Amino acid sequence: MEYFQRRAWLAWASVGLLAVLCAVLALLQYKWIGEVTTAERSRMRDQLQARLSVLSRNFNEEISAAVAALVPSWEQLEQMGRERAYSAQYLRWKESHERLFRRIALAVPVDGKPQLLNLDLDTGQFSPMDWPPEWSGMRDRAQSRLDGSGPSGPAAPHATLIELPRFAGPESGGPPREQEWLLLDLNLDYLDRTLLPEFLTRYLGDAGKLDYDAEVVANSDPAIVIYDSAPGHNHMTEGKEDASVGLLEIRPMMGGRGGPGRFGGFGDRGGRGGREFRGGGRGFGQGPGPPMNGGQGRWVLRVRHHAGSLEALVATTRRRNLAVSGAVLLLVLATAGLLVRLSRHAEHLAELQMNFVAGVSHELRTPLTVIRTAAFNLRGKLASRPEQVEKYGALIEGESEKLANLMDQVLRFASAQAGHAIRASEPVAVDKLIDDGLRSSRAAHAGAGLTIEKRIDAGLPPVMADELALRHALQNLIDNALKYGTEGGNWIGIFASAAPGANGRAAVEIRVADRGPGIPADEQKFVFEPFFRGRRAIQDQVHGTGLGLNLVKKIVEAHGGTIRVKSEPMRGTEFIIRVPAAPRELQDEFSDTAD
Ligand code: ATP
Ligand code: MG
Repeated sequence: MEYFQRRAWLAWASVGLLAVLCAVLALLQYKWIGEVTTAERSRMRDQLQARLSVLSRNFNEEISAAVAALVPSWEQLEQMGRERAYSAQYLRWKESHERLFRRIALAVPVDGKPQLLNLDLDTGQFSPMDWPPEWSGMRDRAQSRLDGSGPSGPAAPHATLIELPRFAGPESGGPPREQEWLLLDLNLDYLDRTLLPEFLTRYLGDAGKLDYDAEVVANSDPAIVIYDSAPGHNHMTEGKEDASVGLLEIRPMMGGRGGPGRFGGFGDRGGRGGREFRGGGRGFGQGPGPPMNGGQGRWVLRVRHHAGSLEALVATTRRRNLAVSGAVLLLVLATAGLLVRLSRHAEHLAELQMNFVAGVSHELRTPLTVIRTAAFNLRGKLASRPEQVEKYGALIEGESEKLANLMDQVLRFASAQAGHAIRASEPVAVDKLIDDGLRSSRAAHAGAGLTIEKRIDAGLPPVMADELALRHALQNLIDNALKYGTEGGNWIGIFASAAPGANGRAAVEIRVADRGPGIPADEQKFVFEPFFRGRRAIQDQVHGTGLGLNLVKKIVEAHGGTIRVKSEPMRGTEFIIRVPAAPRELQDEFSDTAD
């Protein structure tokens, strides 16, 4: 016993140790996952920024190339004249380009004023037109350049208008001056539906799906939204995006078309400071090209992950990682606990089985010794005395009956274990069942000192039972009451009454009571377990194997009934079984045959 207790202690102590280890591991994991998360966050941010830079560079290059392809060479301009040269260049350009521009126009000086020539996008012909109100800024700038007063302050550039001034050639001497401006108004419809979504999915998408919400706003005024990938959503307020990059920084990319010094680059006034790339005699061919990081740009592209932000995405991943590793640790702990419980249970069973073997051997030894002694005596001179033969014969008969009962109990237990606690059921009268139970139990051999109080209510329905099995169960309960419950007084009680059963069916309740010392509270929950024997039973060396109550429970439950125990120390014990009554139609049949 002590050995088993020590082992139980050790087992639970190791589970405790495992729990501490798991807690330490959980702490470390919490810390490490935190570190990994921080690293992951900055890696994702860097990666996103790098992708945005490439996107911006390639987008700028594409627009720059399209713009540059619209500019005729100096020779063309000289040979064909201004309008025809631009027109011819446009018609050639049109064949290989989408409708990137909504409107193309030339601003030319006429009598010291900038006049606007609109290019018909279908025919490629120029015709004069009035300055549209939204281009008034551009007109003022052109006017002040013509007046020679320089740019009129850092006026906010038009969000979609690209202006491309052509400067006077080097032979004109003096500082370069604008001769005309090619004005290109971007087609937002095409950008919105085709070009920007294409770029975004190419650089930020995964398998054709965009992982980010993207928004393009004017750099000079973020309230002007050029593109929004999720129009229904709230706008990203500045600083709430995961990353941003400048877009639409137009730089000339042409090589060798215009003579150096002729064009001063595109009039890109991008940037809040009104930066200009014009002037300075720099030719197209020497243009530095878009900067690697995407530069400032006239627009700003802001992106934020679908999850709300990269921060939120990483936080969710972190929570998920923590939850998974927490669950794994808990699982480890629970498994360890379960293993200890199961092994404790197995040890308990092993202990009980040992008791069973010892109990059965002990139970076998006494009757066998008696039988052997009686047989020995019968062989001697006692054989000639008939009353002695009678006495020893009865002794042998009684002891063999004990042996047979023991074997019966063990065999019934084995078949109940295999799921065959009962055989066919039929209606059985309760009073007959109780009488037979009493007759086959020890009560039949008890002396006159024993009081058996039997009370069976009148009109009880028959129960649906395997008669032999249920009688055996009753007999076990009566035997127990006699074995353990007659210390305080020689009394046992058997009562039967009607009771409600499961599913509203009628049932019969049979109670077997004694006024013995009772079952200690800590033992009550074990009495129905196989091989269990109470401390007192072992101490007082009361014969038994510990199978009786387990068998009773199995038999009663196989009948669809229930069993419970009520016991109070020094007041007595009562086992209460409830067995379903036979169905009404069978009851009628039963009463007919009984009559
Ligand atoms: P078996 O019935 O197989 O010969 P057993 O009587 O020891 O052996 P159970 O009938 O299963 O086995 O009883 C289990 C234990 O429950 C007993 O050892 C005893 O300690 C306790 N017990 C059972 N009935 C009573 C009772 N009426 N009063 C006090 N203790 C009881
Ligand atoms: Mg018993």
